[in-house]
Amino acid sequence: MKNITILGSTGSIGTNALEVIRNKREEFNVIAMSGHGNYKLLLEQIEEFNPKYVSIGTEEGYKIIKERYSNLEVYIGNEGLKKLGQLDETDIILTAVSGAVGIEATIEAIKKEKRIALANKETMVAAGDLINNMLKEYKAEIIPVDSEHSAIYQSLLGGKREEVKKIIITASGGTFRGKTLEELREVSVEQALKHPNWSMGRKITIDSSTLCNKGLEVIEAHQLFGVDYDEIEVLVHPQSIIHSMVEFNDMSIIAQLGVPDMKVPIQYAFTYPNRVENSCLESLDFRKLSNLTFDEVDNKVFKGVELAYKAGRIGRSMPAVYNAANEVAVDKFINKEIKFLEIYEIIEKTMDAHEVHDVLTLEEVIRADKWARKEAGRKKLWEN
Ligand code: NDP
Ligand code: MG
Repeated sequence: MKNITILGSTGSIGTNALEVIRNKREEFNVIAMSGHGNYKLLLEQIEEFNPKYVSIGTEEGYKIIKERYSNLEVYIGNEGLKKLGQLDETDIILTAVSGAVGIEATIEAIKKEKRIALANKETMVAAGDLINNMLKEYKAEIIPVDSEHSAIYQSLLGGKREEVKKIIITASGGTFRGKTLEELREVSVEQALKHPNWSMGRKITIDSSTLCNKGLEVIEAHQLFGVDYDEIEVLVHPQSIIHSMVEFNDMSIIAQLGVPDMKVPIQYAFTYPNRVENSCLESLDFRKLSNLTFDEVDNKVFKGVELAYKAGRIGRSMPAVYNAANEVAVDKFINKEIKFLEIYEIIEKTMDAHEVHDVLTLEEVIRADKWARKEAGRKKLWEN
């Protein structure tokens, strides 16, 4: 029996993970879970999964949970997430909060030498240098949950690391694939929130429509697999059936395919190196696929990928700045304070204004993150 801690159990990845666990109750026990604003759903999850520890984002939720469950250890806010990262009883911790708030808990889990099922890509983007250094010291392991990185992780098993020629990350192209700059100027939040293939949280759905999600994934791949940016390619594949691929020196390409459902990579991260039956899902039926198509990213329209390559190549604190500026810009877009294309403008101007520094300690990561949030939040930045 494996004890699972889920950071962000009330989110899209979190609820998918609970579905995986629901079908494997004899193998997995939920030891801890966290929600932020949605304490009602967290209450339902506590009732069903009976964890020992929970953390919640609001005072209101904290009081209600504490009153109702006197035997439960209840924590609150960022400190609460950090506490969940420190639990000795955890075997696997799934980091599925949205945004850079996941960093501290992940660092705690590394110190405890846990298996980290990493969905929270923002952590690897903002704090990748620090995390990679820590992984040299502590025997923690990171198994990616992001579908592309899970695919790359699996494909890499097909050869030796020094035999890798390049990594090909596939991208659905998002809701606005094929649109011109002119057409994108006036698109609404509601339009951006409609993803063709994946049902996900709001932030990542907007990131998919700007292709900043793919940008974050390029940096995530560099940090997870130690591959140069010149050896990472992004390929638009609208059907999301091939989740990513690795080309080896002999020109062989190994890809991972499957139904586009996050329960596959979540379960893989839980059971690796084993592959066990996934009773939540049906087989991919190739006969029902009319075609698989591939295309270039339209970098003139969707600047999210190129900006990420630039941030990644500069390195040090720049990826953290790209990430934080994007988080601020996405919030503003969701709150209807800015237009769609201004998301790129905010990221670009924040990056231009940044003086890079190392991010080898948590303090340095927080410094870059805070600086970028403040800079990206300045009104003047996009009002000229
Ligand atoms: P959701 O928005 O659906 O869920 C986010 C979770 O984090 C919720 O449990 C939410 O709590 C919690 N949360 C939000 N803000 C905070 C905060 N400030 N402090 C603590 N907890 C917080 O996101 P997703 O599940 O879609 O994504 C989660 C992560 O996984 C992201 O990093 C995303 O990039 C990554 N990912 C997601 C994929 C997907 O298919 N959804 C695919 C690949 C990666 P509450 O709802 O209670 O407020
Ligand atoms: Mg992904």
